[in-house]
Amino acid sequence: MLFKTLSEYYEKIYQTASRIEMVGILSEIFKQCSIEEISKIIYITQGQLAPTFEGIEFGIADKIVEEAISVATGYSKEEIEVQYHKTGDLGLVAELFSKSSKLRRMSDKKFTVLDVYSSMYKIATTSGKNSKELKIRMLSDLIASSEPVEAKYMVKYPLNELRLGAGDETILEALSLTITGTRSKKDVMDRAYNICSDLGEIGEISLKGGIEAIENMKVSLFKPIRPALAERLPTPEEILKKMGGKCAVEQKYDGFRCQVHKDGNKVKLYSRRLEETTEMMPDIVKAVINDIKVDKVIFEGEALAYNESTNEFLPFQETIQRKRKHGISEKIIELPLHLMSFDIMYLEGKDLLGESYEKRRALLEDVVKGSNTISPSKRILTDSAKEFEEFFEDSVENGLEGIVAKDLKSHYIAGARKFSWIKMKRSYRGELSDSLDLVIVGYYLGKGSRAEFKFGGLLCAVYNKEKDMFETISKLGTGFTEDQMVELQSLLTKIKVDEKPARVDSIMKPDFWVYPKYVVTVKADEITKSPMHTCGRSKQPDGTEVGYALRFPRLIGDTTIREDKSPEEATETKEVIEMFDQQKRVSISKKS
Ligand code: AMP
Repeated sequence: MLFKTLSEYYEKIYQTASRIEMVGILSEIFKQCSIEEISKIIYITQGQLAPTFEGIEFGIADKIVEEAISVATGYSKEEIEVQYHKTGDLGLVAELFSKSSKLRRMSDKKFTVLDVYSSMYKIATTSGKNSKELKIRMLSDLIASSEPVEAKYMVKYPLNELRLGAGDETILEALSLTITGTRSKKDVMDRAYNICSDLGEIGEISLKGGIEAIENMKVSLFKPIRPALAERLPTPEEILKKMGGKCAVEQKYDGFRCQVHKDGNKVKLYSRRLEETTEMMPDIVKAVINDIKVDKVIFEGEALAYNESTNEFLPFQETIQRKRKHGISEKIIELPLHLMSFDIMYLEGKDLLGESYEKRRALLEDVVKGSNTISPSKRILTDSAKEFEEFFEDSVENGLEGIVAKDLKSHYIAGARKFSWIKMKRSYRGELSDSLDLVIVGYYLGKGSRAEFKFGGLLCAVYNKEKDMFETISKLGTGFTEDQMVELQSLLTKIKVDEKPARVDSIMKPDFWVYPKYVVTVKADEITKSPMHTCGRSKQPDGTEVGYALRFPRLIGDTTIREDKSPEEATETKEVIEMFDQQKRVSISKKS
């Protein structure tokens, strides 16, 4: 496929406000491309060069791109900067100047998708002396020989500013449509994605072997599994009822989720977001090699800082200090990590996802025998609410967050939040003290004392996984420091879009829409019902439509933006509905 053809399809995607149409256009692309091309096209569409866990990033600054446009079109850097200020989009600048280029087109070469991908790969991975000049030259060579519409995407891609709005779910649905003629096999695609986390690979297998090959995909080493997530309930009674009797109750540790892959002496670690974290935790890697006596295994746990002298786990604020790339060796001594393991997914060539929790736990205890650095999580098996409560209280007294209850018969449900795991944290027992992670979908201009910041507040949304849409839940105007307002204003102007993005569902209209990219953590007093928001919106008996909203929302957290969460990892609509129901129950029981 020519890169120009792909660019023209991207233009069509840009112009559509409908998600279903977007799925249709993507599927047209997938039908036309070859097996060799599909994975690359998927990565390009995601704005990546490879799946996230491979950690290959462009790291291309605006300045490099500006210079490349200048070299390719003969316009000065000043002229380019003026246009950039006007439009806020270097892709548009490249398109504009390439239309009226002062130079002759370098060649009549027609770039294929593979040509562009391999040049981009080189641009991203070139390092060392002169690498800046080399990058500029490679990018300008591409721009100089391309048509304006191609130039636009050749610039947007390495800047990760494609903003097509095609999330993982949209791509999976488009693949289902491509190989089966219907979008309904998305659940089979979902399962495949949950066990390999690589959309490019799924695209390739889809075109090679059709839906059958996708159904037969198995867990494999060094392809991280999308983590199982926990539902929440507020009391032991409700959890035991939901579990239908006896269940496991495990301590809940508050650190970094850590998925360990081991093949002999080769070990890699992955975070909850499936980024590789091996280099951040050499102490855990060493312990895996020394203490885990099996050859091939995938298991997971929570890594948290540990005080060896007092035998105590440290709070998250301490553990987070280990999240660094430099000075690790000093931090290892100061803040050693301990891995509390709670599941096993693969052992000596066998995929264990379909085994029951009890079977997996027994295998986990065979593999993780307990050492200075790695132990199995502490747990009890019980069907008594009293015993459950005592274990919970004891965990909380020991500085832990609470517990996670587990259904003894359940499979490992990758990538989904299901009631086979139910968390109960201390915070569920009062008002709404659990925070929400919300996606910014728009912002308001500042008035009065905020006018100078050109920032007055945010419009925030939750993620509706079933619909693959972002539904608004709150305006957010409180909790910002002046620095944060400046930071948000500068981040958000870069992702401004003219129209409401296709995956945003909103009745409210902010001063500016933004592409859903950033997640913030918010606390509120209460969840209320509101006709103004689309989160969980449904028809009431009186015919009106009502959604959910937050009362007195305020920004919290150590950082403004939650870098560790993607928009699809924000709080989900169904969680808000559950939190609303639990809040109702808590307030009823308080009154009684
Ligand atoms: P939350 O982040 O509040 O949704 O809680 C779920 C997270 O708790 C998981 O993603 C794990 O990182 C963490 N966790 C800590 N201890 C356990 C445990 N024993 N079982 C499962 N997850 C746990």
